[in-house]
Amino acid sequence: LSIMRLDKFVCKSTELSKKDAIQCIQNGDVCVNGDITINEATQVHENNTILFNGVTLKARAFRYILLHKPAGTICSNIDEVYPSLFNGLDIDHASELHIAGRLDADTTGLVLITDDGRWSFHITQPVNDCRKVYRVTLSRALGDDVAMKFKQGVQLQGEQGLTRPAELVNVSPREVLLTITEGKFHQVKRMFAAVGNRVVGLHREKIGEVQLDVDVGQWRYLTEDEIRSFG
Ligand code: URA
Repeated sequence: LSIMRLDKFVCKSTELSKKDAIQCIQNGDVCVNGDITINEATQVHENNTILFNGVTLKARAFRYILLHKPAGTICSNIDEVYPSLFNGLDIDHASELHIAGRLDADTTGLVLITDDGRWSFHITQPVNDCRKVYRVTLSRALGDDVAMKFKQGVQLQGEQGLTRPAELVNVSPREVLLTITEGKFHQVKRMFAAVGNRVVGLHREKIGEVQLDVDVGQWRYLTEDEIRSFG
């Protein structure tokens, strides 16, 4: 069972905004295990008894979604230069969702979307070694030494230290599969720039054990096994 802040729990189990939830908590409307609790940062368990003006609250379950990102969309909750990816996600409370590992506007492929911040940590934090597989199209044929360089780590412009070991598999002279376990800003594009090449097409196929298996623009909920495979 997950632990979360009381204000988050109240948001998840009612229609209240975060601001209103905090106000209600501070007003003394919320009881945790029999005690009025006015500190919105109190950590609560999903199996605690939480009452709102005497009525038991039940948290909505967290959501875990796989979506096939089209080109020309952005991994943001709001439209900017390009439309938000969330426009394609016709579900309630979409504003509570976030993307576990964002893609550039021109990148296509697998994105995982959730409202469970602890779970996305398993995917996005390099220390967790979660493997992301990208299919990369390059502007020119790849040198023989690049796989070894990526294995050893390369220096990205403006970064300290080397990239973590990455695995490169040739598909055709200008197409490769690259597996990385971190996600710095424009990481794949900058890795190929570091070896004098240029990415002209980028598509994410796999994150951990989860494989992209829906058509572009489509989405589905993850299975229990997929959810549990992280962490
Ligand atoms: N690396 C990039 O450069 N862009 C992406 O969208 C993902 C990884």
